[in-house]
Amino acid sequence: MSRAMMWFRKDLRTLDNPAFWHAAQHDELCAVYVRSEMQWDRHDVSHAQRTFIQNNVKALHERLSGLQIPLLIVEATTFSHVPALLLKLAADLEVDGLFFNEEYELNEARLSDSVEAQFCGAGLAISRFHDQCLLTPGIVHTKAGTFPKSFTAFDRNGKALLRTRMRQLYPLPVAPSVNAIALKRVDYAVNIDSFEQFSDTHDYDTIRWPAGEDAAHVSLDEFITERVTDYPENRDFPGLDATSQVSAYLAVGVLSARQCWQAGEVLTGGENEGLLAWRRQLVWRDYFRHLLVERPDLCRHQPYKQEFTGLPWEDSPHLFDAWAQGKTGYPLVDAAMRQLNTEAWMHNRVRMVVAMFLCKHLRIDWRKGECYFSRHLIDIDLASNNGGWQWSASTGVDAAPYFRIFNPIRQSTRFDREGEFIRKYVPELADLDRDSIHQPNAEQALARGYPLPIVDHREAREKTLAMFEAFKHSL
Ligand SMILES: Cc1cc2nc3c(=O)[nH]c(=O)nc-3n(C[C@H](O)[C@H](O)[C@H](O)COP(=O)(O)OP(=O)(O)OC[C@H]3O[C@@H](n4cnc5c(N)ncnc54)[C@H](O)[C@@H]3O)c2cc1C
Repeated sequence: MSRAMMWFRKDLRTLDNPAFWHAAQHDELCAVYVRSEMQWDRHDVSHAQRTFIQNNVKALHERLSGLQIPLLIVEATTFSHVPALLLKLAADLEVDGLFFNEEYELNEARLSDSVEAQFCGAGLAISRFHDQCLLTPGIVHTKAGTFPKSFTAFDRNGKALLRTRMRQLYPLPVAPSVNAIALKRVDYAVNIDSFEQFSDTHDYDTIRWPAGEDAAHVSLDEFITERVTDYPENRDFPGLDATSQVSAYLAVGVLSARQCWQAGEVLTGGENEGLLAWRRQLVWRDYFRHLLVERPDLCRHQPYKQEFTGLPWEDSPHLFDAWAQGKTGYPLVDAAMRQLNTEAWMHNRVRMVVAMFLCKHLRIDWRKGECYFSRHLIDIDLASNNGGWQWSASTGVDAAPYFRIFNPIRQSTRFDREGEFIRKYVPELADLDRDSIHQPNAEQALARGYPLPIVDHREAREKTLAMFEAFKHSL
């Protein structure tokens, strides 16, 4: 009789979960989720994502109950307490081994190693699996055997590998016929019904992101059947409901990247242009994760391009606050920041616009923006967030060149032509026509209590170019 324990982390699902599937091949199985509020604080995890995780842990608990598998929830002060806690649980439940999926952020990867060290020291087995990416980090190379510095090369080489190395999805494992472990109790486990009491819960939109695997698959399938075909034409317009919005599910592992990739295969036959464009975004997600493994110092707030380490960013708390509150006087920037503050999510096009505005109009350090996003996004994900910010600040791998500076008004007339997105999030400008709404004049702004632009686009652009050029010459 063999007994296994599955440690759920950012893989809150039963389907296509490699560690869970392998753990479930044992005679008896229990599962654990370790919650650490202080670690969430240290990692600046948004309250929206914390609440989303909790709701999904509850959904997982229910689903596992249906398979007669108990999910125990235990609390750890920080990551450093997790290995001993898991070991105690393993001893109390008399399990032979622990199963879990890898996480690639620096602290999470170190945690995996120390859990392994403690279990091995105690003579217990550990089984670790790659789960989060389409392709295992480290296997996409250039011909010279190095990590591809351009996304185009990563995409080309990665897709070639995907044709041969994309594994089948793991099915739902068969429930153990007798699971005596389910009857065991530990007095330090948290009762699932009182789970939400432990954190300030966030009022995110539970209609848009209902908890649980079934709900996530409904969202995914709806996108693939109804919107993926038009994705290439519509994906850049924040006023349209044109993207999948599955990022929150992917970030906490309620959906796997492989399920997303293959959902399209089944529903469209894999040849649809829209599907190919959407899959390219999934490859971007992989790219930034592979990059974290290649350059773990990115988790320590270092720029990818080390020559940009000492860039003289400016410290302007009042400008940062205006940006954060959506009061810059640039309607598209303000609409986007208000979307983030009210909905815990932001459309990709405007993530780029506001990020570039912070770094290249206000010359504020990208790390401050990265942290603000982390504290507010429901889909916060270190790899993609860091990748997006470093792209915008020109410090990243395959980043926008430093002299590429989005004009926020041009972006607005191009991607929100009729001003629908602005009207929704900046209601004080809602009565302006499509010509004025992107750039209200002083009279229009003052009459509506809307701020005047906090910086002049042309002047800010010149100053930023001068900053980058002076810095480059000083090297
Ligand atoms: C400054 C900045 C910060 C960002 N922070 C995050 C973050 O914390 N978490 C996050 O998931 N994404 C982040 N992104 C990437 C992107 O904006 C979101 O993934 C996307 O907006 C999510 O919406 P969607 O699910 O509708 O995407 P879709 O357009 O439907 O794309 C499908 C999936 O592909 C992935 N994806 C799409 N675009 C990107 C991209 N540019 N980089 C990496 N993966 C991508 C996401 O997992 C997404 O769910 C950031 C981008 C920028 C510019």
